[in-house]
Amino acid sequence: MNNKEIPSPEEIQRELAKFLKEKFGGTPIVQAFPQPDSVSEEEGGDEVRSKKWELEFDYKPRDIKEYLDRYVIRQDEAKKVLSIAVCDHYNHVKECVKTEGGCGEYTKQNIIMIGPTGVGKTYLIKCIANLIGVPFARADATKFSETGYVGGDVEDLIRELVQKADGDIGLAQYGIIYIDEVDKIATPANVVGRDVSGRGVQTNLLKLMEETEVPLRSPLDVASQLQAVMEFQKKGKIQKKTINTRHILFIVSGAFGGLEEIVGRRLRKQPIGFGAEPEAGTDKVQYLLAAMSKDFIKFGLEPEFIGRLPVRVVCRDLEADDLYKILKHSEGSIIKQYEQAFASFGIQVIFTDEGMREIARQAVPEETGARGLITVCERVLREYKYELPSTETRRLTVTPQIVRSPLDELEKLMRNPDLTEKAYMEELIRNYERDFKRAHDIAITFDPRAVSLIEDMASDRKKSVKDICDELIKDYEYGLNLIKSNSGRDNFTISREVIEDPGKVLSRWIRESYKKK
Ligand code: ADP
Repeated sequence: MNNKEIPSPEEIQRELAKFLKEKFGGTPIVQAFPQPDSVSEEEGGDEVRSKKWELEFDYKPRDIKEYLDRYVIRQDEAKKVLSIAVCDHYNHVKECVKTEGGCGEYTKQNIIMIGPTGVGKTYLIKCIANLIGVPFARADATKFSETGYVGGDVEDLIRELVQKADGDIGLAQYGIIYIDEVDKIATPANVVGRDVSGRGVQTNLLKLMEETEVPLRSPLDVASQLQAVMEFQKKGKIQKKTINTRHILFIVSGAFGGLEEIVGRRLRKQPIGFGAEPEAGTDKVQYLLAAMSKDFIKFGLEPEFIGRLPVRVVCRDLEADDLYKILKHSEGSIIKQYEQAFASFGIQVIFTDEGMREIARQAVPEETGARGLITVCERVLREYKYELPSTETRRLTVTPQIVRSPLDELEKLMRNPDLTEKAYMEELIRNYERDFKRAHDIAITFDPRAVSLIEDMASDRKKSVKDICDELIKDYEYGLNLIKSNSGRDNFTISREVIEDPGKVLSRWIRESYKKK
């Protein structure tokens, strides 16, 4: 379908009136649909809110990078480049708002992100939009070519920004649009028979990336067209509402598989020492970082399209250790999601460090980056989510054994519910050891008999494991530091004897340390 075939609101109104007259003998159209008075502003009433950007953009690139570090693991180069581009863009926008548009010539900092799936490309941009408080909308570029009515669809994405901004057009005009899988709409000139509609999508995007007025009412959206009809009925005229794309930041992304070979081939043809030639054995990322516009054109992007994307960002593959860090340290970690899901059934769940490492290891062969973590967690914990809420179990400790053989371990737990309690307590004690090491740079290890004694004390006294440990070794912080400075010893095993008489053991250790000194 093509936009030109869509009738205007006036024509729709005439057609509808004719239809209703035939059907109901002249019932006015305004009675057949909700009265305009009942249409709220958000639903497209007369006054769509439009206010100036009230947010103060006052960030420096380092602030943005530090914020991203809290959520996104690795991708440091990408974070830096993005932080700078976002600051440039919004400082320019701020200047334009201040001078009421008189902000001179400027090349928009639209961004192209290259990297495999699930490594944080979308997440980076979502976090940025969150931080600066602008709406964010995303879509896959392939969706545009599939539907046929290409132009309409791309514009829908702009309209989505208005929705995300709760109808505030002013704010939507400073939003961020993210279009994934642009590599799939590339149309290399030398490939015969390849779908050329991608070129059309690129042209459409190009228009938006420059400056276009996009109508707020989609010509294809029947509901908003009917509202236009009602407005016409009421006032005899249609108020045209549009959103301007001048200050919208566009980010496109894709895996661009094979681009590194195009770059490599070009570099090999150049005389040695000319240009930024990655050395032999350097990884794919080095080639991607050296990509030039002409490489993208060879890949199949239109010159005008890649020309509007001056900022290039490369994201790396994530390794097992990165995936582990995502689980352990990212503020957006899916671990929180699982803790909440189990907590809704009154079950406390903790993931041991080794458990998380095993999840990360199993996620790598999925080849879907951090998304693989969810796949593994679901596979491991699905049955636990199903069974445990109907049992007396109130605690679950995700150990490497559970990750390796979830069903066998579940069966064991179902037969002996005390096991979950024991594993849970033990992990709390291990956490205590880690915290102690971090705080004092001294390793303490509770031996198995000490562990079981602490567990007994915690359940007898109805106290937490941490409280019991704190009470037992409250004098040890000072004492162990003293021993360390006397003798250099920084590794202590906490035995049952320590738990039973902490003071006695500590004095003995201190005396010995003086002898060594
Ligand atoms: P893509 O690179 O395909 O755009 P996403 O950014 O959508 O991938 O990643 C999917 C999810 O995986 C994110 O919502 C986030 O939870 C997690 N994730 C991916 N990469 C990272 C990362 N580097 N650090 C932290 N979380 C990540």
